[in-house]
Amino acid sequence: MSGWDHGGKTRQQRGYGRDHDRMRVHLMRTVILCEECRRKSPPRVTAGQVADHIVPLAKGGTGDRSNYQLLCRDCAAEKDAKDRGKPIKRKPTIGLDGWPVE
Ligand SMILES: [Zn+2]
Repeated sequence: MSGWDHGGKTRQQRGYGRDHDRMRVHLMRTVILCEECRRKSPPRVTAGQVADHIVPLAKGGTGDRSNYQLLCRDCAAEKDAKDRGKPIKRKPTIGLDGWPVE
């Protein structure tokens, strides 16, 4: 993984330094499950893998514990796309009759 080459900025400068790695380990030990999946209805039980900034650093979020949540990869990718203002691509759900469900 070449996480050090992002437009000349190091991970540290972007707020993803050693503290971020430590926070991820802490969240995986204490929170364990994806928080977004647990908020869904019905709740899903998914192992969290990504330490996510609730308010993105680019939008003034901090590296405090209160601005972190633990997400699974799917939820993190979804939130990331939302934070960047990109439309979320969803796989259409196919109904029993073989047609996509709205
Ligand atoms: Zn999730």
